[in-house]
Order: sequence, then structure tokens, then C-alpha cells
Amino acid sequence: MGRNLTRAELHLMGLGITEPKEIDVRAIAYDAGAAVRVRKLTRCEARIVGVGDKAIISISEDSGFQRRRFSVAHELGHWALHRGRQFECRATDIDNAANDPLNPERQADDYAADLLMPWYLFMPLLGHAKHVDLALLEHMQRSFDVSLPATAIRVAEANVEPVIVACYDQTGRRWFNRSKDVPDRWFPVDQLDPDTYAADVLAGKRARTHMSPIGADAWFDSEGISECEVKEQSIRLSDGKALVILRIVDEAMQEDYGRSSWRSKQRR
Ligand SMILES: [Zn+2]
Repeated sequence: MGRNLTRAELHLMGLGITEPKEIDVRAIAYDAGAAVRVRKLTRCEARIVGVGDKAIISISEDSGFQRRRFSVAHELGHWALHRGRQFECRATDIDNAANDPLNPERQADDYAADLLMPWYLFMPLLGHAKHVDLALLEHMQRSFDVSLPATAIRVAEANVEPVIVACYDQTGRRWFNRSKDVPDRWFPVDQLDPDTYAADVLAGKRARTHMSPIGADAWFDSEGISECEVKEQSIRLSDGKALVILRIVDEAMQEDYGRSSWRSKQRR
């Protein structure tokens, strides 16, 4: 597979976990010396307070089941990586990572993803999938009992094909993630183009769409792509946001020119 095992994966393996349904975050927390309590929290979604090698993780009672699981895993990330510090994590800190790999919230999110969707179980379950679509995300989501956005980010990282996943609300793009084979010149638009299917989904006109071709210029502000097409599938999430899958199917868009040659190509 070519990946190094992460700390979270080593922890899971140490517990003898060989199937997704065995990933019981409360039991894993207990094993790590952390008790989990669900309670009323006003200032944050989750927090961890540690003394010595014991900790108490508090999770907001207002959160749904998958959010609570992710929150426990996120706090276990702080416990594994940032012991001795105290964290109060807001919902925006969790499952919505900053891009700075040194940001402790980002590190805790990465740890949570590794704990809930360890590659050694995730890749075999992806099996021989060649394309990313909602059916695949929902299959993986059911297997690992995580949110659809967290699943989408993981599937993009798995690099099944060149794909971008993104999330939008009324204020614009909240986050996006590219698979490794998508050149990093491609940034999905900040504000949804009304021509996109995602705009309909965000407006509440449709709950979800089929995977459909759409002009690349609806999704990217680059020159010279008016002839290119991408494939888009969008779904309205329970919080009203739109989750988007963009398959980069055009070979010209897949080509990684590198910075300098891309510039010279544009100049031509
Ligand atoms: Zn945190």
C-alpha cells in the first residue's frame, strides 16, 4: 500500500481491531485512560481535560451520533498528540480542518480520520472502485459510521480517480479537498455559479443530483477551459450545506504542467 501506519492505526491494531464495526470510540477512549461524558456544553462542541495519564472528554449532548463519534476521536487526537494542553473545540474546529498541518485542530482531525477510517480497513473496503460518486460515499459512510463530509474527504485522499470534493453554504465554499492526481492549479470557485447543480441543491430545489457533465468554467475561474467538461454530483446535507463531488475526467485538466510550464503554456 506504500503508506506508513499512523499512530491511530497502531492504536487500533494494538487493540486487535480488524473490522470497521469494531471501532468503538468510547472503548478506545477508555483504553487510552479517557472517560467520555455527554453533557450540556455551551461554549464548545467537545473538550478534554487531562490530569496525569487520566482524562475526561466531554461531548455536547446536542450533537448527533456521528458528530459525537468524530468529536471523541478528535479529542483522543489531542490526548495522543498534545497531552498536557487543554482544548475546547468548537464545531467549526472539528471535521473542518484548517490547512496548516501544524495547527493542533488539523492534527486532531487527521488523527480522528485515521482512527475512524484507518487506511488498513478503508482501502480493502473501497475494493476495486474506479469512480467516486455518492453511492460509493454512502457505502463507505455506512460501513464506518461517520459523516458524509468526513467520508468524502477520506475517499478523495484515497485517490481512486482525479476528484475534488467540496462543501458550500450560503456564504460560499467552506472547504474542499483534491485527490492526489488532481493538479493543484484547480481551485473550485469560492461562490457557486448558478449554472451548477450544487446551486440548485443549496437553494433547496433538489435534494441530490445524478452524476452529470457540466462545463468546467462553471467550477473553475481559469482561462482556456471553456471546451472542458467535468462531472458533478451534489447532495444537500442535513445542515443545509451542499456537498459536491467533481470528477476531473478531462485529460487536459489532469495534466500536471508544473508551475513554470503552465505559465508558459498560458502565454502561448
Ligand atoms: Zn480540537
